Amino acid sequence: MLGVSFRMSPVSFRSTNGQAPPVHLRAALLAGQAPDRGLYLPVEFPRLAPADLAALPTRPYPEIAARVLAPYTEGILPRADLEALCADAYNFDVPLEPVAGRERVFVLRLDRGPTASFKDFAARFMARLLGRFVRESGRPLTILTATSGDTGSAVAHAFHGVEGIRVIVLFPEAEVSPRQRKLMTVLRGNVRCAAVRGKFDDCQALVKRAFADPALRDLPLSSANSINIGRLLPQAVYYFYAAGRVAAPAEPVVFSVPSGNFGDMMGAVLAWRMGLPIRRLVVAVNENDAFPRFLATGRYQKIEPSRHCLSNAMNVGHPSNLARLVAVYGGHLDEAGTLHRAPDLAAMRRDLFSTSVSDARTVAALREAWTRHRLLLEPHGAVGWQGLLDFEATEPLNGTPAVVLETAHPAKFPDEVRRALGFEPDVPPAIARAEQEPEAYDRLDADYAAFRDYLRADHER
Ligand SMILES: *Cc1c(COP(=O)(O)O)cnc(C)c1O
Repeated sequence: MLGVSFRMSPVSFRSTNGQAPPVHLRAALLAGQAPDRGLYLPVEFPRLAPADLAALPTRPYPEIAARVLAPYTEGILPRADLEALCADAYNFDVPLEPVAGRERVFVLRLDRGPTASFKDFAARFMARLLGRFVRESGRPLTILTATSGDTGSAVAHAFHGVEGIRVIVLFPEAEVSPRQRKLMTVLRGNVRCAAVRGKFDDCQALVKRAFADPALRDLPLSSANSINIGRLLPQAVYYFYAAGRVAAPAEPVVFSVPSGNFGDMMGAVLAWRMGLPIRRLVVAVNENDAFPRFLATGRYQKIEPSRHCLSNAMNVGHPSNLARLVAVYGGHLDEAGTLHRAPDLAAMRRDLFSTSVSDARTVAALREAWTRHRLLLEPHGAVGWQGLLDFEATEPLNGTPAVVLETAHPAKFPDEVRRALGFEPDVPPAIARAEQEPEAYDRLDADYAAFRDYLRADHER
């Protein structure tokens, strides 16, 4: 192992609403949201020493993960256990693809996990850590989650087989593709899926009511949703990994991140505060453009209802992690979207570049990437790609290395890719395997009383 140069006291976490006591990782992870409805953020950002940064390029991904995450688990998880956990969670490739015809421009493919989206990175780490806490406490837990596609499959896969934890996933019957559905419904074991006769909003409403229902207080329900700090920290790791491989030590990098709920881009902000040199962070959104408007005007107005775009995992009108970003820059945005204190906008504009990419530009970017560079993307990655091009139009890279994040495998969006490029992408083995397995799932009406009975019956099984 490399020398240890972190300050070795455990990091504590404060709430963005400022009305809850600071806690360590275990409590933050188990609670999800802070009691004042704010989101947890490190009180102080632990910094990686320059010598540590310089050592990263030669290290494999799981080792970088353990080094970046160690300050947060210090005192909670022995270092050797953290290393074993990371090795187990990150047992797949993390390709960094040079873009043909472009100097020092790369695509980071975060799509080689079991459900072929970047959400595997966070979900797999969180599942293992939560599984450990549950075993230590001896109190089993049921993770209840509603999904429109990617989150449900990543969470279900990540917790599949984790002792002491059951998973119940609700999905809208007619709104998930067969491929997305199969990634959840072939699992069985401790994972149970239910198709709801309704929309995603109905699924989410059922889950929210269950969490708030006094009649279900005795059930050990928990959520693994994206505002949990355990889903955020692991997303800082791949920025260190990529920078170590494309840049010289201490050389700044430009990252372009296709963004919806802003968890992924917050991983970059975290890495930056931990000492990773970044020249500019490009926050690329689809037509849900609340953030680029805010950055330009200083006025925040969420998009309600959210706009339906091709990059459907980014159809978020009010990104929940924006509260964290605003807090990092000294402001206060609450969960409802009210700005109580403005952040340092000048500093934000120096650090971040944000752009909105329409569906028409998304399709054009998919085509441009393929025809000019033989770079195969899907709609989310195409938004990130166009984001970098938009940034370059205002400020040339001039040799600065740039990395665009591809957040899903193109085979998850066969129709969109076929319409733009005229062919369907090859299906990766993880997805191909799921397509062969028999499915099992329940069917539910979007009716709360029936759902409550369903939860009770499941608990008593
Ligand atoms: C969830 C998701 C995103 C958006 O990530 P955020 O952290 O919510 O900004 C982008 N692309 C894909 C494929 C996703 O599944």
